[in-house]
Amino acid sequence: MTTTPETQQALLAQVERFARDTVAPGAVRWERERRIGREAVREAAELGLTRLEMPASAGGLGMPFSCKVQVTELLGAADFAFTMSLVNTQNVAVKLNREAPPAVAARYVPGLMRGELLGCTALTEPGAGSDFSSIQTTATRVPGGWRIDGGKAWITNAAEADVALLYAQTEPGSGAKGIAGFVIDARRAGFVREPGFALAGQHAIGTGGFRLEGYVATDDEMLQPPGKAFKAALGSINGARTYIAAMSCGMTAECLRVASEYGERRETFGQPLAGHQGWRWRIAEAASELAACRMMVAHSAALIDRGEDAQLAAAQAKLLSTRMAERRIAELAQAMGAEGLRERHPFGRHLIGARVASFVDGSTEMLLERIGAAMRRPA
Ligand SMILES: Cc1cc2nc3c(=O)[nH]c(=O)nc-3n(C[C@H](O)[C@H](O)[C@H](O)COP(=O)(O)OP(=O)(O)OC[C@H]3O[C@@H](n4cnc5c(N)ncnc54)[C@H](O)[C@@H]3O)c2cc1C
Repeated sequence: MTTTPETQQALLAQVERFARDTVAPGAVRWERERRIGREAVREAAELGLTRLEMPASAGGLGMPFSCKVQVTELLGAADFAFTMSLVNTQNVAVKLNREAPPAVAARYVPGLMRGELLGCTALTEPGAGSDFSSIQTTATRVPGGWRIDGGKAWITNAAEADVALLYAQTEPGSGAKGIAGFVIDARRAGFVREPGFALAGQHAIGTGGFRLEGYVATDDEMLQPPGKAFKAALGSINGARTYIAAMSCGMTAECLRVASEYGERRETFGQPLAGHQGWRWRIAEAASELAACRMMVAHSAALIDRGEDAQLAAAQAKLLSTRMAERRIAELAQAMGAEGLRERHPFGRHLIGARVASFVDGSTEMLLERIGAAMRRPA
């Protein structure tokens, strides 16, 4: 299938309907039941969203990165947590298809694309988050493979994931250069899953952890050898920062839509809320900041589409979009009065979503470090 602006627009129209009819109502239920929206992941798979960036030759839609960004904004507007779970599974399918030996990829990629398997990417550990090079999970050489021991925590989809892309240290004390990347099968001996984390919200992310106790990965399950894995793990980070920024725009846009509509219906002091200048300035501020953040996201996505350096653009887009989301969603919730607290409205859920967005794929402080480093480059 050739990707054209028309096929992209047709897909986006389907995604918009799916977000409105399935994801938004499902989000309330998944949060109450504290679980991943697996039935909706399977439905998303039927739309092709688990193989969005997979090349057409491998059965994917072969969409450009900028299309993924628009999809994540639309889905994020309905539910950040569901979008995180889905996009992480998509990413694992694409990486396995691209980097794993065909026999290894064949074990997981078809199930991931059908939405039957869930994937996760595991860098973070109980003792290592921002400082990825300090991970303590070890990979020790054994005949025919690697014995892996250690624990991972705060991993999207870990509560139920079937397959993990995992990073482990092959030479303790060597930092980034000793880190290697493996594909891990959650159904194999030595994989011990921990219960999903009980959090302030966003349970459809399936955040959790697991331990590897004498788990053996075969030689062909090492996806990146030491010396290559650290860079590979961070290789997709500009894309991740850009789509997290897009999801933050989506959450803000949805709260803006709900508050704006409410402002026309609810009357105080003889006129609609939107008739009061002080009230509608809040709407104007949020709408203006959203427009600016969307431009930053589009700029970063265009750089990635063209294969150009997006480090600075992606970091800046995520920094400002996540900050905007947290501040503006809180203000828009205030504009709703008590009504904004109802479960059927997205304000509370999206506020926690914006909080999570400020940590994943580079916390606000790590983004500032990245931007600060770029500013020090000689002109
Ligand atoms: C819901 C959720 C899903 C996640 N999904 C995944 C996943 O799929 N895979 C994965 O590997 N990880 C995942 N993470 C983990 C995420 O990447 C980490 O939370 C993030 O890297 C920050 O690490 P930390 O939380 O351990 O904070 P820490 O590293 O303990 O830092 C604590 C605070 O101090 C700040 N800080 C740290 N060092 C500095 C410094 N040098 N200067 C200034 N400030 C500093 C940090 O920015 C942070 O605000 C997820 C997290 C959440 C909440």
